[in-house]
Amino acid sequence: MATQNKMTPEEEDKLIQEAYQDLLNGYLSSNHRKKVEIIDKAFKFACEAHKGVRRRSGEPYILHPITVARIVSQEIGLGSTSICAALLHDVVEDTEYTTEDIEAMFGKKIAQIVDGLTKISGGIFGAHASAQAENFRKLLLTMSDDIRVVLIKMADRLHNMRTLQSMPPAKQYKIAGETLYIYAPLAHRLGLFAIKTELEDLSFKYEHPDDYAAIEEQIVANAPRNEEIFSRFAAPINERLKKMGLKFEFKARIKSHYSIWKKMETKHIPFSQVYDYYAARIVFECDNEADEKRICLNIYSEITDLYSMHPDRLRDWISNPKANGYRALHVTVMGPDGNWVEVQIRSRRMDDIAERGFAAHWKYKIGEGEEESELAAWLQTIEDILKNPESNAIDFLDTIKLNLFASEIVVFTPKGELITLPKDASVLDLAFHLHTELGTHCIAGKINHKLVPISHKLASGDQVEVLTSRSQQPKAEWDKFLVTAKGKTRLRAALRHDRRSIISKGEAMLKAFLQENEVEASSVNINRIISAEHLKNRDELYLMIGNNEIALSQSLVKIFKPASRGLLDRLMNPFGNRHSNSNADNEVVANEGKIDTKKVYELRTVDGKSNYRIADCCNPIPGDTVIGFVTDDNEVVVHKMDCEQATRLKSSFGGRIVQTQWETKAKKFNVTISLEGIDRQGILQEIIYLISTNLSLNMRRLNISADDGVFHCELEAMVDDTDVVTQLCKRLKKVKGVSQAVRVR
Ligand code: MN
Repeated sequence: MATQNKMTPEEEDKLIQEAYQDLLNGYLSSNHRKKVEIIDKAFKFACEAHKGVRRRSGEPYILHPITVARIVSQEIGLGSTSICAALLHDVVEDTEYTTEDIEAMFGKKIAQIVDGLTKISGGIFGAHASAQAENFRKLLLTMSDDIRVVLIKMADRLHNMRTLQSMPPAKQYKIAGETLYIYAPLAHRLGLFAIKTELEDLSFKYEHPDDYAAIEEQIVANAPRNEEIFSRFAAPINERLKKMGLKFEFKARIKSHYSIWKKMETKHIPFSQVYDYYAARIVFECDNEADEKRICLNIYSEITDLYSMHPDRLRDWISNPKANGYRALHVTVMGPDGNWVEVQIRSRRMDDIAERGFAAHWKYKIGEGEEESELAAWLQTIEDILKNPESNAIDFLDTIKLNLFASEIVVFTPKGELITLPKDASVLDLAFHLHTELGTHCIAGKINHKLVPISHKLASGDQVEVLTSRSQQPKAEWDKFLVTAKGKTRLRAALRHDRRSIISKGEAMLKAFLQENEVEASSVNINRIISAEHLKNRDELYLMIGNNEIALSQSLVKIFKPASRGLLDRLMNPFGNRHSNSNADNEVVANEGKIDTKKVYELRTVDGKSNYRIADCCNPIPGDTVIGFVTDDNEVVVHKMDCEQATRLKSSFGGRIVQTQWETKAKKFNVTISLEGIDRQGILQEIIYLISTNLSLNMRRLNISADDGVFHCELEAMVDDTDVVTQLCKRLKKVKGVSQAVRVR
């Protein structure tokens, strides 16, 4: 921007006047009361104070406060007090003037806000990290004093990010990192979605320029195709909504670069697999707030008339708004090209609040009172809520739902590091958050130099020191002190290392199982199981049973009862001829007494057709101990013996239970495996390779999510029986990083 250096003073004056006029025009077209005089005064004063000073880009400094004021007014929706404070926000920090001077000229309120902004200026990190953390702590704690301090700070940061180009690279990284770490989450909590998204995208652009460019390129390349798909999708909807007599806007919107990138990173997928990167949004005009929900639902019903909808992807944020105030109805439908498309349905008011945060709420209340009194009343209510979460003031959250401290708290380590935790997090949560070792050996906490137990619930602003002892051991009952997923996962992992207790648990499980099946728990018998499972010793057997890696199922017992298989062939199957002679079947079922519960019903599959149905409550597979239940429709439904549903059936309809035996491996069965472990690059590919190539299993579904380096994965595969599952889990656990692999219902 060297060209600006060459501007004549007259040209620069013109530029400044134009920027200021733009600010004023925006303000005058808002719903706020027109207090131009004081804004004029603030502008002239700031011009004078910053006279002759330039930004790094070479432009006159005053353009920065003007732009910040414009963001405050036009993008956040605040009024004259905030505009003045924004114009003056760097005066005390950068010039000779003091807060007292501001107060004398502009009154107490504006001076207070400028003072707040001066105090929190500068970075959060750097040489004075701990002092800055203290500043930030103050900022958060005084947020309820005047939220405008934070909102103006947000605008200041946004402008600095928009002009980050002129900074040297080292400074760019620092500012971008800090923005992503502190300001974007804060914007999110304040409900400033548009600003949050822009901050994230700008940070991402400076931190990962190559990735940003690659995503940009993909978006541009895909744009023509997406536009075509969208117009085909939208045309019939447009027609219907027009018939409803609605005034509305219907457009496609693309996920932000940053969220596309995050999805690619966390799910380890290429751009082409981020299938939900574009969504459609309908914003309708509606004068009466009371009608909004009904209209949303009408639109929803028109859309689902046209397109079939994804059953699991309806999100009603109207009846249950998000904590930060977001309201809308989201529905995902199958578009004409066969892709799922998310449609977000909102009123103009909901859209405003979603994009600009709670401050937009003002727009709809202005006129009833002054900005000051509105704001004061709102802040008072927030304060009440903060002090007493049970109070009836909670109802207020239904109109704004700004959940600042209610859902999250911010605490500090002794080094001044800032940690965000969910509400009700304990000392132990913090310990596990910092490090597994700290968690497992945690004996107490010290809050502001006072000793507290590990179960102690933390409060925002606490400075917490975690105390540990070498002799401390993690305990299963600690789980109830933990609210964070991270804490719970880490505790569970630590407990898993507690081999001894699992071994004795496994031993008890096996003994109980053998007793149930009338097999003596003798050394000889247990050794037979060990050799049948190809294990080394008893400990290994018990450990695997304790970790549910060896299912206690019929396949274990069959080692001891080889005769039961041979008997099968000789046993008559009561429903063997059901297809050729259905009358006989009905006769059997019509009278429960005639069902021969002594006989073993053979579960057979011929040419893909089965003479039984798998219960979907427990999904048994060959190898599981199962029972059959004859339904009114003369169908045998197979449950796992330990299925809750089966237990209920056993007690109420004992006469309809038939013993069952799997016939052959003629059919593949669906199992769900749950995996857990430490995330690392390439782990997903290894898992997939193991399942589909090494074990040649057909994989049906794969869901993976990663959180702070820990991943959870659920997959469905087609298998023959429990032996295959045991083998599969064993192999999966050998993949580096995988700590848990078990079959789930
Ligand atoms: Mn500034």
